[in-house]
Amino acid sequence: MLGLYVHIPFCSAICNYCNFNRGLFNAELKERYIGALMIEIRRTADGSPADTIFFGGGTPSLLEPSEVAAVIKTCQQSRSFDRNAEITLEANPETLTPERLAGFRAAGVNRLSYGVQSFRDNELQRLSRMHSATKAVDAFAMARAEGFDNISLDLMMWLPQQTVAQWLESVDTLIALGPEHASLYMLEIYPNAPLRDAMARGRWSVAPEDDAVEMYLSSLDRMDRAGYVQYEISNVARPGRYSRHNLKYWTDGEWLGFGCGAHSTRAGRRWKNLSATEEYISAVAAGGQVTTEHRALSAEDQLEEALFTGLRLNTGLDLRAVRDRYGVDIWSRYGEKLQPFVDQGVLLYDGRMLRLSRAGMLLAHEIMAVFIR
Ligand code: SF4
Repeated sequence: MLGLYVHIPFCSAICNYCNFNRGLFNAELKERYIGALMIEIRRTADGSPADTIFFGGGTPSLLEPSEVAAVIKTCQQSRSFDRNAEITLEANPETLTPERLAGFRAAGVNRLSYGVQSFRDNELQRLSRMHSATKAVDAFAMARAEGFDNISLDLMMWLPQQTVAQWLESVDTLIALGPEHASLYMLEIYPNAPLRDAMARGRWSVAPEDDAVEMYLSSLDRMDRAGYVQYEISNVARPGRYSRHNLKYWTDGEWLGFGCGAHSTRAGRRWKNLSATEEYISAVAAGGQVTTEHRALSAEDQLEEALFTGLRLNTGLDLRAVRDRYGVDIWSRYGEKLQPFVDQGVLLYDGRMLRLSRAGMLLAHEIMAVFIR
């Protein structure tokens, strides 16, 4: 079944480490954007089956509940929707009140994904986030009180000035809250990020790499002990609470992306929407083409993608299934280059399944580079 991704490119302020497709909130622009989104969704209506909607951003929780309701309804009218569809809204804690949460729930949202990043105020301030740790905890309690029983929390590790113990404090707070799902990312500071200047001015540094390794491994150990299952490099969940939408990206699924900069993959083709918000709105209004960068995925592209995404998952790659589907014996083609990783214990191979060990997940880029031809 299809997944639908809806991009909401507005934020109240721009975080100093962020390189997503987003801009500052503007009520008038937002209204025109929502109108364009609904036109785009209607244009692709074909009644095909779908079972997930994911509002990502940006900060989708800046929308009014009535706007979220209208977009969901438009999605539902354009497809044949599964009754148990997973409908996720990414949310920033400072944008939430009990009334807004009740509104999102009434609109059909049944899963929330909170950008928490840290439960320590000084870390949040260094990242120029708008919320405090207390606000994040309160926003979680509010969502529970409004009946949300499927909540994901995002945390980031290897933050400026963060020690292993401080990182684990945030992890323990998350575990105490008991969300159904968590994403634990390592902060990557891109070359021109304003955070780099802030770090220079504040003389902040990040912990040595060995500490980053310890942060990753020890937090996942704690999540294991708390009953979570790691199913992807950065994602853990209570059994059965994996992100159904995100799994489509990692398991060769199909999805349509709506809104500026959104990507789509369907029927062996991939494309992207215009990135700039105004340009996207104008193209929709003019009845013109909003999509760009179309390409047909060759069999080799699809194989490469299956290898990259399959290895991200804890289940790993079933090389027999890969051979049956793509006609390629992966071990004959890449075995010689992969063997050193197997010898180091970072890649596990039992003659059929190939998967990364937990330590190997930290070397995923290096190991997957073997597949680049
Ligand atoms: S709230 Fe999220 S999308 Fe918006 S600027 Fe911050 S990190 Fe980027």
